[in-house]
Amino acid sequence: MVLANLKDVLTKANEEKYAVGAFNVTDLNTARGIVAAAEELHSPVILQFAEVHDEYISIETVANMYLHLAKQSSVPVVVHLDHGVNFETIMKAVKLGFSSVMVDTSTLPLKENIAKVQEVVKIAHCLGLTVEGELGVMNAEDGSGRLDYNEMTDSFTNPDEAKIFVEETQVDALAIAFGTVHGLYRGKPNLNFDRIKEIKEQVGIPLVMHGGSGLSDEEYRQSIANGINKINYYSTMAYDVTNKLRTFLQENEEAYLTDIDVQVQNFVKENIMEKIEVFGSAGKA
Ligand SMILES: [Zn+2]
Repeated sequence: MVLANLKDVLTKANEEKYAVGAFNVTDLNTARGIVAAAEELHSPVILQFAEVHDEYISIETVANMYLHLAKQSSVPVVVHLDHGVNFETIMKAVKLGFSSVMVDTSTLPLKENIAKVQEVVKIAHCLGLTVEGELGVMNAEDGSGRLDYNEMTDSFTNPDEAKIFVEETQVDALAIAFGTVHGLYRGKPNLNFDRIKEIKEQVGIPLVMHGGSGLSDEEYRQSIANGINKINYYSTMAYDVTNKLRTFLQENEEAYLTDIDVQVQNFVKENIMEKIEVFGSAGKA
């Protein structure tokens, strides 16, 4: 299967109202588990690398790994840069062969955010890459925080601004703020589904949920029904796999390093398969 970009996998998702999972990866076992889950369920999938994870593994190392898996896979796999904040990192991803990039300049005022994103879109579209932009503010962009929804100020994406942003930048997908947070929730999430719908009516393009961990299946389904087509999901899976691995090691004192490789792949696969089913992308490859 050839390497896919966001347009390849999200256009149909937008038309048929389902979401494609975008999973952060920093190691080969996790990446293999994710692709195996997508292949088993005949689902497209997005492997993504967050710029902040550069302290664990370099973008050069993951690029080769992701691209190899994508090209070997029986389903469409997008290799996407998550939260590209620095222009240098984004250009590195382009050069390394990523098929898609996110530009996160959402902390800037609208006009400056648009200008920064335009710069990347111009280059990326020439080369056949897709671009995700972000409007509105979600806390704990590094994914490490356990944030309380109530601590957030009213920083949800404004539908009128979203229309201007999409028209001016020509992004292929838009990450919006409507109540999700990065990392794990301290309080109960309070999502504004109407806001998703209002934004979708204005822009029409695929919308992206960041902070897709810790939500109920019903919250995912409602978000998708209102216009979400890409769900970034990582923290819950990371904890789930770690907990299962801990139990495995306690129960198997003879376990060898390669046993851990196999177990991690299986635990990741199980967790991701559940999410693919809920997101509705099974059978859509
Ligand atoms: Zn994010």
